[in-house]
Amino acid sequence: MMIPVRCFTCGNVIGEHYEEFDERSESGEDPAEVLDDLGVTRHCCRRMMVSHTDLVDVVAPYQ
Ligand SMILES: [Zn+2]
Repeated sequence: MMIPVRCFTCGNVIGEHYEEFDERSESGEDPAEVLDDLGVTRHCCRRMMVSHTDLVDVVAPYQ
């Protein structure tokens, strides 16, 4: 589905960074460096970005 707006653990807003993170890591940049660049430094927030799979476009037609 869509990335949650806030980190489940600490409540920090992380949803706003997902698009840029996805584009830049897809284009071959090191995901760790992209996250440092975006200011996502806590590991609870980083796992939200790294472990997320965007399924909203796959699931949407069946609702
Ligand atoms: Zn967090």
